[in-house]
Amino acid sequence: MSSGPLIEIRRLYKSYTRGGQAIPVLTDVSFEIGRGEFLALMGPSGSGKSTLLNCLAGIDRVDSGEIVVNGQDITLLDETDLARWRSRSVGFIFQFYNLIPVLTALENVELPLLLTGLTRRERREHAAAALAAVGLSDRSDHYPAQLSGGQQQRVAIARAVVTDPDILVADEPTGDLDRTSAEEILTLMNRLNQELEKTIIMVTHDPRAAQEAHVLRHLDKGELSRAADTPGR
Ligand code: ADP
Repeated sequence: MSSGPLIEIRRLYKSYTRGGQAIPVLTDVSFEIGRGEFLALMGPSGSGKSTLLNCLAGIDRVDSGEIVVNGQDITLLDETDLARWRSRSVGFIFQFYNLIPVLTALENVELPLLLTGLTRRERREHAAAALAAVGLSDRSDHYPAQLSGGQQQRVAIARAVVTDPDILVADEPTGDLDRTSAEEILTLMNRLNQELEKTIIMVTHDPRAAQEAHVLRHLDKGELSRAADTPGR
């Protein structure tokens, strides 16, 4: 399937229950994400950005609405099928990298491949290629604590792309980095978008990070708008 949007979000509702009371987080959210789009999602803290990202990535469940990815409504999948879909289709990049401290850089990148049918040797080769793609071949045997924040995030990006998913979701990927490291990460994400045609959905507070995106959307009190200052390349 090559034409039309990659992801169609229709009338999403999601609330959390606190002290017996339903707190609405997403209220009638509808929009589309094009194939190969680089989308930045901004908005005040608590506006539901991470919730929306987690629903799109199949980590969290919606109360109602549709999330159609490549023609398939993922809200209809049971837990097993949703987990399978997620491991095949989505790569995750987090603010604090979420690397396993007792595993080397190479072993961290190899981790998502354990769920595939690849042999150990193939897994090693794929992981080494992904580490090379983020410029960290010479750090394969280093543990996360032996790497800078920027390097750890590059390892996390290698881990996110090693299974070759269509979609990358990133929650504040530059939030814990100094400006120089943040720029490196943004350059890398841009390359993944342009060269490998990954569709990227990024939650960010960083205006510089948002500039990197094609489309900018604001979430406020669970409602979504397309920002007037959408960069639109
Ligand atoms: P943002 O990413 O924009 O900061 P979140 O999606 O993290 O916002 O949170 C939106 C709202 O949902 C907040 O009021 C938050 O407290 C609430 N929330 C998020 N996750 C949970 C949860 N697991 N249980 C209860 N409330 C939650």
